[in-house]
Amino acid sequence: MKKRILLLAGGQSGEHEVSLMSARSVLSALPRDQFDVTPVVISKQGRWLPPTETQRALESGEAPTGGDLVLHRAASAEGYDAVFPLLHGPMGEDGTVQGLLTLAGIPFVGSGVLGSAVSMDKVMTKQVLASAGIPQVAWALAVRREWQTQPDTVRERAAALGYPLFVKPANLGSSVGISKVARPEDLDGAMTLAFSLDRRVILEAMTAHKPREVEVGILGNDAPIASPVGELRFDADFYDYETKYTEGRASMHIPAPLSAEVAEQIRTLALRAFRALDCAGLARVDFFYVEETGELLLNEVNTMPGFTTTSMYPKLFEAAGLNYSALVTRLVELALEDR
Ligand code: ATP
Ligand code: MG
Ligand code: MG
Ligand code: MG
Repeated sequence: MKKRILLLAGGQSGEHEVSLMSARSVLSALPRDQFDVTPVVISKQGRWLPPTETQRALESGEAPTGGDLVLHRAASAEGYDAVFPLLHGPMGEDGTVQGLLTLAGIPFVGSGVLGSAVSMDKVMTKQVLASAGIPQVAWALAVRREWQTQPDTVRERAAALGYPLFVKPANLGSSVGISKVARPEDLDGAMTLAFSLDRRVILEAMTAHKPREVEVGILGNDAPIASPVGELRFDADFYDYETKYTEGRASMHIPAPLSAEVAEQIRTLALRAFRALDCAGLARVDFFYVEETGELLLNEVNTMPGFTTTSMYPKLFEAAGLNYSALVTRLVELALEDR
């Protein structure tokens, strides 16, 4: 019997377009002799689009408004063996859709409510990983109301971290809303942008030197494995949205040219982080490696990483001998596994 899979894509976050790109790749890679796949695109307004509009959105890379409210369709998801919530960012990667699917009793690919929610929030992630003894940059939290009523206390926190620093919405991805702030005078603009996207904003110290950016893929549930380590190289000041998604701006190096010792340390830390955050299925764990000092700092954990055929996560496992189609098949198996 073929497994019936519901593939969710799009979604309400700033990473809607990125998700549609990932979904197109997964849709064509799930082996049709094993799976019967139904894609449903979720519009930016959170509505689940009917089949013809879904098809059109996948082709054009843009979803129209309209469709059913998400809760109306949750019940109809019951006809599926598993759901692949290929959604990035809030309202998709953050435990909300995972909660809906858990209530509906349908197995799904990736982390559950807890792992998704904690990993999506950069502040919660830092707190959990700190308690697990994992090295990270210094950071501080600011909430919107505090910034509105006592901006000077937030400015002091920023000054204590030192400039340049990074300002990020706590719950987002693809570098949406992230600024590198060189001087105190530029803090306000960065905070305004980040608070337009989230109630919670994280301020992060920068590493002492421009770090090398290395990433590792994790695959599995309670006995996860780590991929080889990959490295991203680019010319920009940091790995921003444009650099991420403009063809030819960044290059991927797999395996990353690192000593065997450092690569092993990265894989071990990534597996520890995956367990500490109660992740499941898959995650891409991003690190900063400061060559000058030998420092290795965990930056973040992405529970639904970019998933086109040329994205880092699938490329990392391809290097480990698992091709794209075998990888997505494995992810569905992990979703159906008794835990
Ligand atoms: P993703 O698309 O991987 O989910 P994201 O939106 O969650 O990305 P981050 O990975 O936290 O964002 O940051 C984006 C980029 O900004 C990093 O890849 C790096 O280039 C730069 N960056 C972020 N934080 C720091 C930092 N503390 N020090 C130096 N560079 C940083
Ligand atoms: Mg991220
Ligand atoms: Mg992400
Ligand atoms: Mg990242």
